[in-house]
Amino acid sequence: MQHELIRKSEANRRAAQLSEADRAAFTWDAAATALDGLSEGGLNIAHEAVDRHAQGAARDRVAIRWLGRDGARRDLTYGDLAQETARFAGLLHHHGLQPGAHLFLLAGRVPELYVAALGALKAGLTVTPLFAAFGPEPIRMRMEIGAADVLVTTAALYQRKVADWRGELASLKAVIVLDGEAPDGCLSWSEEMAAVEPMEGCSPSRPDDVALIHFTSGTTGRPKGVLHVHQAVLAHAVTGRYALELGPGIIYWCTADPGWVTGTSYGLISPLVNGATMIVDEAEFDTGRWLDILADESVEVWYTAPTAIRRLMRAGPEAVEGRSYPRLRHMASVGEPLNPEGVLWGQKVFGMPFHDTWWQTETGAIMIANTAAMDIRPGAMGRAMPGVEAGVLARDADGSLRECGPGQTGELALRAGWPSMMRGYLGEEARYRKAFEDGWYLSGDLVTRDADGYFWFVGRADDLIKSAGHLIGPFEVENALIEHPAVAEAAAIGLPDETAGEIVRAYVALNPGYTPSQELEREIRGLARKRLGPAVAPREIAFIASLPKTRSGKIMRRLLKARELGLPEGDTSTLETEDTPARSATP
Ligand code: ATP
Ligand code: MG
Repeated sequence: MQHELIRKSEANRRAAQLSEADRAAFTWDAAATALDGLSEGGLNIAHEAVDRHAQGAARDRVAIRWLGRDGARRDLTYGDLAQETARFAGLLHHHGLQPGAHLFLLAGRVPELYVAALGALKAGLTVTPLFAAFGPEPIRMRMEIGAADVLVTTAALYQRKVADWRGELASLKAVIVLDGEAPDGCLSWSEEMAAVEPMEGCSPSRPDDVALIHFTSGTTGRPKGVLHVHQAVLAHAVTGRYALELGPGIIYWCTADPGWVTGTSYGLISPLVNGATMIVDEAEFDTGRWLDILADESVEVWYTAPTAIRRLMRAGPEAVEGRSYPRLRHMASVGEPLNPEGVLWGQKVFGMPFHDTWWQTETGAIMIANTAAMDIRPGAMGRAMPGVEAGVLARDADGSLRECGPGQTGELALRAGWPSMMRGYLGEEARYRKAFEDGWYLSGDLVTRDADGYFWFVGRADDLIKSAGHLIGPFEVENALIEHPAVAEAAAIGLPDETAGEIVRAYVALNPGYTPSQELEREIRGLARKRLGPAVAPREIAFIASLPKTRSGKIMRRLLKARELGLPEGDTSTLETEDTPARSATP
């Protein structure tokens, strides 16, 4: 069902950072003049994010406002960050860790994590953030394929998850622990930081030097290690400004953990490059806490994920009433398809819609977005960002690629060459080459584009359901199910069927106050039939307490299918489990 357009006012349009005229005139070369650069053509993310601000008028501006789990608070100004990162860079060099060495991060969202990431970039090392909730095996596997030289972690995480196998990882030269007494064979952050000579300036990295290696979410299979270079900072700068409305002093909250690409690209680099003040919350998702942060910290721009939005919706209207958010002026979402219900809920509760953005670990930065000046079509991901050429491709009978017309479903592809494009999959050269064809990067996601250039998500190519000659995208089915007031979350998969090829089966998690019953199942199925027609509506609906999700909050449809068919579950290293709830934020 098409929802009504949400129109932006003239005042909204005028206040937006990206006008239609800016869009038309955009070139990456012109945008690059906004970066400082190093002498002789060098480029270093840490210089653009920290030092250039610390050397200017922004020295005393708060860069990171940290909110501890138990009520502690700490502000780090751009000047503080410049000093601390210079110390950490000095520490790394002092211990013989040279540019190009691989640093891994494994810690909760504490200020030192952010200092370590930026300090390592300053020193020319490559940085790989891991999610602190990973178990020993996923950590080990990632550090092995990434040939880790140094690990920054906490004493407890080290003892629980690393100490047992550390001796078997030959590449690992040093472990730095952020807190407490350093276990045997580890360096103490506080002792080392106090003793060391700070590094002067930044390592003279080149734009094409690898800066970050991120692992994908593992939604569709074994996580891939994705290589990104310092040049990516240009895309972080531009998209932060144009898609997220970031700018000097703007109070901004990205709810993602740096263990995922969103938490690094937009929870660290992009806000700092744009001179914003970013909120970092150490704690996990909690309805009251999150709404308090939005209100009490005067958040102006909020970047979160559909899974968090659905949890807030599920908490009911009472939970969100009684607070006001006078400074809030832009809300955006990423990581999963954003249901129209979520967009409309934002409009109702906060007086503004969520702005969907689409991108992947591989793209490094936002590629498609609803920007502040654009009217919102609930359910659409928005238009291609300036400087990004997005296409919808299908294969002809002879296997060659062609562009689809408006309304036709095809694979979302991006013209290769944008600054934050991935430069490799760690140890998987053939897979990397396969992702490019005819000058396009092929995303693996299926979409349609309408006549005005808005992209509509259909589903991941892997999740597409083929039933009685119809191609069915799970998103369409899930959107219809979620319209029912009892349904909090839904997932649709295809199950093999002798006559139809596949039939649609859906799983739904209910809102508080509803209990599973045959009657409710019939009612939800009836609504789906009305919305989707009998060919597309699910044949079966199962009630489930909660859907299996990655730790970054993405529904793992492949797992539902494997469980249903009794097949092996494949890589579950990123699966959210009871004792380590999802971070509720994105990709
Ligand atoms: P893996 O590649 O390991 O299976 P993943 O694709 O979930 O995991 P990420 O790179 O974290 O890993 O996520 C990118 C994917 O998330 C996209 O390809 C898309 O399927 C989904 N996604 C991100 N943003 C959106 C959005 N706005 N709408 C729909 N889907 C989105
Ligand atoms: Mg992927």
